[in-house]
Amino acid sequence: MKVTPWEVEGKIDYDRLIKEFGTKPITSKILKRIEKHTGELHYLLRRGIFFCHRDLDWLLDKYENGESFYLYTGRGPSGYTHLGHLIPWILTKWLQDKFDAELWFQLTDDEKFLFNQKLDIEDAKKYAYENALDIIALGFKRGKTFIFTDTDYSGELYPQAIKVAKKITFSTAKAVFGFKNESNIGQIFFTSMQSVPAFLPSVKKGKNIPCLIPLAIDQDPHFRVARDVLPKLGFYKPAIIHSKFMPSLSEGGKMSASDPQSCIFTTDTPGEVERKIWNAFTGGRGSLKEQKEKGGNPDICPIYQYYYFLFEQDDKKLKEIYNSCRSGNRTCGECKRELIDRINSFLKKHQERREKAKKVLDKFILKS
Ligand code: SF4
Repeated sequence: MKVTPWEVEGKIDYDRLIKEFGTKPITSKILKRIEKHTGELHYLLRRGIFFCHRDLDWLLDKYENGESFYLYTGRGPSGYTHLGHLIPWILTKWLQDKFDAELWFQLTDDEKFLFNQKLDIEDAKKYAYENALDIIALGFKRGKTFIFTDTDYSGELYPQAIKVAKKITFSTAKAVFGFKNESNIGQIFFTSMQSVPAFLPSVKKGKNIPCLIPLAIDQDPHFRVARDVLPKLGFYKPAIIHSKFMPSLSEGGKMSASDPQSCIFTTDTPGEVERKIWNAFTGGRGSLKEQKEKGGNPDICPIYQYYYFLFEQDDKKLKEIYNSCRSGNRTCGECKRELIDRINSFLKKHQERREKAKKVLDKFILKS
């Protein structure tokens, strides 16, 4: 298993990640505290898809003492958005609605340029604005949602990033991110840019504001560094909640934009969705007869995981899918057909909203 901000490989052991990263599991006690304020629990929390945290209990203490928080999340724009990227954003949107929180959304075009030898900065920028359409299409609130690319908002970010950079030594960056002598110097500096939105609203408003960062667990190392540095600059450490990865359509691993067959993009056509799902790995048996006799294995099946992560949000109905797979009453053909229809109906609406987002993009984007 390898989990870094730039590489995720192998079978992910989330319990081991909690130990290795030093995060805390999201317990039923914390979920009850959230539910007290939200009136219900989002399925991504109920199902443990968001599974661990840093200082979420501290954030709730602050909130209960009258200090409201803002949200910060981001995306490294190396390509079009795929369904796995939407998972942290869907919970972020719910949190924005429930807590009436501002959202600061960072698109790290500089990072993708610095870390990906094949990507030039114009392409990273183009993808950033493509990704911004998906963010807006999810329904984040205008006036409370601020989206920016690092290069277009650098006038605000850079003066703060250098304050962070001054507190991080090369040996810390090497230890956390594994840099070598051959690493380019932009890579070594980059984590300072990713730290800035964790305190920029506090700078702008002239007072400390708690920050909650929903993200996929692979991004945690950046914020381990940020959490160490921010108190030295007089700011709160950001609280974080971490999600699991939506799996690849092939066997094992997370979805990756660099392997287009392993994932569904929000821009895919119905035909592309159909082809990718029909070609996907399943937990089914070698023949229909065997499937009916012995049942399938949803635990290793990415098709089941698609229902689990996004396409069946009703727990009772999800259990029915699981049980009917196990008992052999459900064939993989039926299961895939139903999923194709659900994905295509989701994407049809999403793509319509994405088109409309083009007209209001400038209302969400910050530039300096
Ligand atoms: Fe996967 Fe569905 Fe086949 Fe079960 S029936 S193994 S969940 S595709």
